[in-house]
Amino acid sequence: MRLCQEYLLGIGGVRMLRALGIAPTVWHANEGHSAFLTLERIRELIQKGSKHADASEIVRQSTVFTTHTPVPAGHDVFPHHLMDRYFAGYWEQLGLSREDFLRLGDTPESQGQGFNMTALAIRLAAHVNGVSREHGQVSREMWRHLWPGLPIEQVPIRSVTNGIHAPTWIAPELSQLYSKHLGPQWAEKCDDTAMWQRVLDVPDQELWAVRQTMKRKLMSFIRERARGGWMQGELQASQVITRGTLLDPEALTIGFARRFATYKRATLLFRDLVRLKELLHNQWRPVQLIFAGKAHPADEPGRYFIHEVMRYCDDHKLGGHVAFLENYDMHMAKFLVQGVDIWLNTPRFPLEASGTSGQKAALNGVINLSVLDGWWKEGYNGANGWGIEPLVGNQDVQAQDEHDAQQLYRMLQQEAIPLYYQRDLDGIPRGWLQLMKESLRSNAPRFCTKRMVKEYVDTLYAPAMAIAPSTW
Ligand SMILES: *Cc1c(COP(=O)(O)O)cnc(C)c1O
Repeated sequence: MRLCQEYLLGIGGVRMLRALGIAPTVWHANEGHSAFLTLERIRELIQKGSKHADASEIVRQSTVFTTHTPVPAGHDVFPHHLMDRYFAGYWEQLGLSREDFLRLGDTPESQGQGFNMTALAIRLAAHVNGVSREHGQVSREMWRHLWPGLPIEQVPIRSVTNGIHAPTWIAPELSQLYSKHLGPQWAEKCDDTAMWQRVLDVPDQELWAVRQTMKRKLMSFIRERARGGWMQGELQASQVITRGTLLDPEALTIGFARRFATYKRATLLFRDLVRLKELLHNQWRPVQLIFAGKAHPADEPGRYFIHEVMRYCDDHKLGGHVAFLENYDMHMAKFLVQGVDIWLNTPRFPLEASGTSGQKAALNGVINLSVLDGWWKEGYNGANGWGIEPLVGNQDVQAQDEHDAQQLYRMLQQEAIPLYYQRDLDGIPRGWLQLMKESLRSNAPRFCTKRMVKEYVDTLYAPAMAIAPSTW
């Protein structure tokens, strides 16, 4: 099914664009899923009279490919017998023998048995990138075998760090505040660092009041969902609590929402339950956790992580301070990235290619506390949130988890929680707001799509266009 889908996307996609009379100069394959488009374009050129080598080079020069993850499950590999079933009769049209055709998808791991879509895409795209600086480096290591003998720093895989679309993710209340202080065109000028400098002058009271409103909206959203589930007969009374109805809009709230892929380590915060309980139950400085996410249906360990988090939500000794929200989607993500105080991300280094939810949170004045991996490795500047320095060079996952969890507890206990609850006579946490403004100033202009698309144009699309006549 997957192979058929990708056949339809890649080969059917080219034919659809042709039928619509659309003639792209540059073709951008995002992930390997659409990589068959390179084959179809070679076939077209050969049909018009080109030799295979020429056609292949033209396609290469005008193709951009972005890889999005170092996690093996994120790269499709098809067995050769399936490739035979769908491509017999096609490789001749590319001027290739079966062996040469299958070699396009070879990797050292596939041992002549599997056709790797990422390998195909990299072989047939002259402009390749990963989605953060660290991921660029990881990708060069991962794919250097395609350039045997080339020193790693010369492997031609660059990086463009992901960004988020500000108008989509900004809370309406905060957008109004930005309009007032940064100008009504703030979203169009989202990558303007000088404009974001002015966020430092926004009065603390105004920013804090808006943030409190956003947080109350999240709590109402959660309560109304639970109420709906209860009224529909989908939730038992006790489940109404585990869905977050005891959450307190005054308490420091930590959000963790993403796919429950195991490398994201959703349960890291529960590693030392005694220590966690101390934080959650502190009478004067309570902390609460909101989890949301889905696991891939075939990802058994990922699903187990969700069960484990659910078990903590169900545990009455945790007092309703831990909630799990089901059916995570973009609508729910908006409330979460806008409404919590701290955004937590604890991936196992170096597997988080970029991560974008933390960027959404940062734009909304939420503070990031995350492992220094993906985007946060380049976003963290020492004064705009908290960065967990991962344990590198030790392959023992238990040791990694222990090391990262200890830092996480320490940062919460000694830095984040005291700062959040340190209020002046007006009840305003001045230090927290300073951190928030520094996070906005430094992150908002860098991790938005405006900056990202400009970089794609400058470093990938323009070079690909320079050598591509407009006819292909
Ligand atoms: C932003 C977002 C993601 C991606 O978040 P990561 O930080 O990259 O894991 C996934 N799902 C939804 C619904 C999102 O809004």
